[in-house]
Amino acid sequence: MPHETPLIATIVAGLGLAFVLGALANRIRLPPLVGYLLAGVLVGPHTPGFVADQSLASELAELGVILLMFGVGLHFSLKDLLSVRAIAIPGAVGQILLATGLGVLLALGLGWSLGGGLVFGLALSVASTVVLLRAMQERRLIETEKGRIAVGWLIVEDLVMILTLVLLPALSPVMGGREVASNEAMAERLAPGFLGVLALTFVKVGAFVALMLLVGRRLIPWLLHVVAHMGSRELFRLAVLAIALGVAFGSAKLFDVSLALGAFFAGMIMSESELSHQAAQDTLPLRDAFSVLFFVGVGMLFNPLSLVDNPLPIIATLLIIMIGKSAGAFLIVLAFRHPVATALTISASLAQIGEFSFILAGLGVQLGLLPEQGRDLILAGALLSIVLNPLAFAVADRARPLIENMRLFGHRREATAVAGGDAAAAADAAVPADPELPRQTQLTDHVVLVGYGRVGGLVGESLKASSQPFLVIEDADLIVARLQAEGIETIVGNAAGADILKAANLGQARQLLVAIPNAFEAGQVVQQARAANPELQIVARAHSDAEVDHLTSLGANIVIMGEREIALAMIEEWKRRNAAPPDTSSAA
Ligand code: AMP
Repeated sequence: MPHETPLIATIVAGLGLAFVLGALANRIRLPPLVGYLLAGVLVGPHTPGFVADQSLASELAELGVILLMFGVGLHFSLKDLLSVRAIAIPGAVGQILLATGLGVLLALGLGWSLGGGLVFGLALSVASTVVLLRAMQERRLIETEKGRIAVGWLIVEDLVMILTLVLLPALSPVMGGREVASNEAMAERLAPGFLGVLALTFVKVGAFVALMLLVGRRLIPWLLHVVAHMGSRELFRLAVLAIALGVAFGSAKLFDVSLALGAFFAGMIMSESELSHQAAQDTLPLRDAFSVLFFVGVGMLFNPLSLVDNPLPIIATLLIIMIGKSAGAFLIVLAFRHPVATALTISASLAQIGEFSFILAGLGVQLGLLPEQGRDLILAGALLSIVLNPLAFAVADRARPLIENMRLFGHRREATAVAGGDAAAAADAAVPADPELPRQTQLTDHVVLVGYGRVGGLVGESLKASSQPFLVIEDADLIVARLQAEGIETIVGNAAGADILKAANLGQARQLLVAIPNAFEAGQVVQQARAANPELQIVARAHSDAEVDHLTSLGANIVIMGEREIALAMIEEWKRRNAAPPDTSSAA
């Protein structure tokens, strides 16, 4: 019975319900995150029916935070940030100031303390990475300039939030909140007064950062290297996970810095080398699972009745997130003389709040700064703004021609580079009718190459050398960026998706080369391609006899089994050596 196994019941109910509602959300084109939060509300104490164990849920959520922040660190790229720093830094800081100001005004209006208002405002000022990346990916914007600016902007926001998480416990007493238990004794003993506590925090964080940069940066890759040599993939993944959790937990215990910061650094250090980056990517499924529990845990805290009881503050919160922040971002981007389209995309993508806001709200309540009502407002604001985020993009799409035609701003029209390279030619055709869909290729009688890794990359070299028109379908961002830089027409995304295949115009293609390793996905590609064009010649890649049968049965004309080709090449080599006369040196 659930009573005897609260941990299992909480995990099962949380993940199970989150899956069902997340899938439903996905069906209606909402981020699954909305479903996870709703699942939390349903298993929470404020709704009837099953109630999961709240303290367990919040501990599981804490694990989710560690892994989320580990992922943020893993994707943190100083290079990307620097390439857009001119706009991202002033933009993010300006927007944070604006949103925090508005938040403080609302908080004061509700009769909270200034400290509570600051936490509230800061929580409203940071957008959700998960939601933003997803929206950008759906609209294939990640590799465009707009995408880079939005992501860089978000990284700056994240950094400010990380700083806030670190400083808040130290500043809390001055702002009228409580001190955290572990800080209390030490602060009294070592450093009386506000500046002392602040200085102490800086010293601790500094010591932690220095230790990570000096020791961690060498130790962690070395450790991974050693484990890699043991030859067990399982152990390797475990090592990555143990390091992520260990660094987060250890840094929290030793240096009093937040779990989030420790995990962020562990991720950042691991992302430095290609090898460990790959390894760390392997742990992402686990991150996904636990971050779902994080969102469920957050949802459990939410009292839906607060929506009905007191709608005005919620409306005001939503207006700050969706209108106040957006208007600010829009004007800032225009002030930096970027096109209207860029300004609109960035405003829309940042018009929501998410995981960081929850983390900040949790800490604010724990420190006695933020009233419970504040946390409920933040949760409601997040839920609503995430649900309404696609609407923000739709409004931005509609508003764009209107604003451009007003010519109030005297800005140049956008001429973004799009997949396929030629930036200038793409100026107006750049916007597909439905921004959710990839753009349809104009090629006919072409070759479609799926996957551009070890196999597809070599095939692509030959195609480039020939005069055969071709396009590539690839879902790894790094590879896509490289292909686009070379001017090769690329469709970004998972080739198994129907929209992606449709955009490749298979009906009029000459040949399809499926060069991806996963036979299950390859099968889906082959099946849909065959349905779209009975004449198409389909060549696919496999790694076992069973896969060869599978792909052939779905309609592939030729299936090449990698291992067989390797064996043949080895036999050839062996024959060549053995057939040669003993004194090869003189024969050659
Ligand atoms: P390799 O195994 O080195 O030939 O790499 C396979 C390549 O195919 C990688 O670059 C992957 O990013 C890419 N890939 C794998 N699955 C898919 C898919 N379903 N859709 C598009 N690209 C894929």
